Amino acid sequence: MYCSVILRGAVRQTDNLYTYRVPEDLRADAYVGSLVNVPFGKGDNQRCGVIVAIKDSFEGDEGSVKDIASFISSKPVLNSDQIALIDKISDRFNCTKGDVVELMVPSCVVNHKNPLEVFVELVSSETARDVLDSEILRSQAHINILEYLLERGKCTRKELMSSLSCSSSQVKALEDKGLIRLLKEPSDNEIPRMAIPNEVPEGKFTEEYDLSDEQKEAVGEILKGIDEKKDNTYLLFGITGSGKTEVYLNIAKKVISEGGSVIYMVPEISLTPQTINWIKGRLGDSVAVLHSRLTDKQRYEQWNNIRTGKARVIVGPRSGVFAPAVDLRLIILDEEHDGSYKAESHPRYSARDIARMRAKITGCSVVLGSATPSIESFYAAQAGAYKMLELKYRARSEAKLPEIIPVDMKEQIKLGSGDMLSVPLRQAMSVAFSNNKQVILLLNRRGFSRTLVCEDCGEPVTCKNCSVAMTLHNNRRNGTQSLICHYCGYTVPSYEARCSFCNSNHFTKAGFGTQQLEEFLHATFPHEKVLRMDQDSTMTPGAHKEIIEKFANKEASILIGTQMIAKGLDFPDVTVVGVLGADLMLASSSFKASERAFQLITQAAGRAGRGDTPGKVFIQSFRPEQPLFKFACTQNYRAFYEQEIEYRQKLKLPPYKALGEIVLSLPDEDLLIRRANELAKYLNDFLGFQDKRYQFEIYGPMPCVIYELRGRYRMSFVIKAVNKSAINGVFKRLIEDFDHTKYPMSFDNDPQDG
Ligand code: ADP
Ligand code: ZN
Ligand code: ZN
Repeated sequence: MYCSVILRGAVRQTDNLYTYRVPEDLRADAYVGSLVNVPFGKGDNQRCGVIVAIKDSFEGDEGSVKDIASFISSKPVLNSDQIALIDKISDRFNCTKGDVVELMVPSCVVNHKNPLEVFVELVSSETARDVLDSEILRSQAHINILEYLLERGKCTRKELMSSLSCSSSQVKALEDKGLIRLLKEPSDNEIPRMAIPNEVPEGKFTEEYDLSDEQKEAVGEILKGIDEKKDNTYLLFGITGSGKTEVYLNIAKKVISEGGSVIYMVPEISLTPQTINWIKGRLGDSVAVLHSRLTDKQRYEQWNNIRTGKARVIVGPRSGVFAPAVDLRLIILDEEHDGSYKAESHPRYSARDIARMRAKITGCSVVLGSATPSIESFYAAQAGAYKMLELKYRARSEAKLPEIIPVDMKEQIKLGSGDMLSVPLRQAMSVAFSNNKQVILLLNRRGFSRTLVCEDCGEPVTCKNCSVAMTLHNNRRNGTQSLICHYCGYTVPSYEARCSFCNSNHFTKAGFGTQQLEEFLHATFPHEKVLRMDQDSTMTPGAHKEIIEKFANKEASILIGTQMIAKGLDFPDVTVVGVLGADLMLASSSFKASERAFQLITQAAGRAGRGDTPGKVFIQSFRPEQPLFKFACTQNYRAFYEQEIEYRQKLKLPPYKALGEIVLSLPDEDLLIRRANELAKYLNDFLGFQDKRYQFEIYGPMPCVIYELRGRYRMSFVIKAVNKSAINGVFKRLIEDFDHTKYPMSFDNDPQDG
């Protein structure tokens, strides 16, 4: 019996299917999908891999085939639909098959059956006896160790040390003398099972509602689609508070009652105890939760429950899409527009795309839910590729949509109220506090310190070709500063920059941070407690959860934070939300800046007035008359979409054309520039030969938005083409034609940030 093995985490050179022989005594464990240890390469180093095919015979040089060393699991760790996905993912996201196996088989699984332990054995019993007899050993500990091993044979170092109360350096000393040897081997001890602390769901989490007509219709449609077993994709487009969660829970319940499984993804940040309890309260013991705070043991237990079919609902962040679900019938992506579904390090996969790929293989349905769908998804729904299901009303009729109030900061500054809190917002806050209500202040600072804003009108400097904000770069060689468009490379020396709205040449990096705001609030509302949630205050694990719990327990009346706090949190006593520095959300260098700003404002508005008091949302901007803010104020997603899709079409951006990014990074700046120019020449020559129908355009090289990162300098190229496979074609050529060690490149066919 022979098998083909993919090495877990293989690099390109080792990303092949390797044939191994399955020794007679191991055949019972050999399945497609089994996890194995194999000897690899000249030194026969142990590598971990997955069997992807089994065959009876082998047409090659029998002598060159090695035996499988051992099985890490006696049951398959991958099921057939996962195996079918491996090639597709590696092709689509330009990574190795071994990278995909690594995503699908988390390290808790590899380490589980295989916790390597250090064993100690005598090199030779005879020598040991001779040494003891000749009494040349002076250390009593050394004598004890040899006697122990003579008596009991091989044992773990742990056992030896605890039985004899000796130290590891004493063991090592005997190894140095050549009397014993240390071996790393899998221990056969089962790791004791550890339960996940079960936070008891409160009564209100288990309430079931009579569905509204809209909800019923959505549930009915989706259930019909699931029965068809035909990779149907639904866009559940429902305003905040319309009860999308209720729809997910109802369809999930139906699926598990029929013996199927559901993958239910939520953005990592919304994976709070609140959400988890809610889902567990409704779907019971069949829920497995995968989140980043699990220990390896807990993660393994969850994973194993999924694989064996004990858990039928898999709740998790983007990595949940790889779960070994049994009889998968449904994949849900809540807040499908959320940026966290896209991995930002290699392999840069998109969970949304993988969900669709997996659906094609298994015939399961996919539900994408959002109040503010990504432009790409809405476009696909408009085009009929997805089925659109709409929820237009809030589920609880007494819950009113909040009032959204734009505030003109130009006027406010003239009035002398400063640039942090406008008079209307301050007044609304006072009212809220006197009614024992709470306030959320949102300050999005993503990437903003790298852009310049007009002092007169608050607009960022934008590229004349692409209308995205340009990023500020210091040229350390001659001490000058330039503004660079990250999409087309257009560059202006900063002293020549002009505001495209008012032609002013006064620019500033002004703005304020969360800490400054916090100090200002202490001075303005000395009796109110403030909580701050930003990258600094959530560095330690658990800090994020702690801040949310404190705010939910009303230990503070003000929560300030970055985009983190806008998502999926349910605080019934929040009646006022302030969106501060709204213009700066648009001043990001990404083509998705407007989309993100609209999503953020809508999500933030969804936080206000979830209880019984209607909420108020203040949007502080220097140009409150911008259409985007108007659309956000009336929660008019469609109007926003029309405007945005027109811009995408005009500038040939997704969904009209595919975008690709190549980043070249090297520690030596001169070398980087030289190699970037060589690549540029190659790319331009390459393009000269390409068929016009691919519609290639290449821009660059240009410095990345973040030029220096972890001791390396980075330059990028942007490619536009008719579709992703054309982009991938270019990536593949580069991978083949350039030595990765000399030209370390990373590839992204779905860049989100400029
Ligand atoms: P969304 O996820 O669409 O923003 P939620 O699922 O959070 O909305 O629902 C908003 C609120 O409405 C929740 O408090 C939920 O419990 C409640 N709700 C949902 N469906 C119903 C219903 N059919 N009847 C009454 N209340 C409902
Ligand atoms: Zn201006
Ligand atoms: Zn540009």
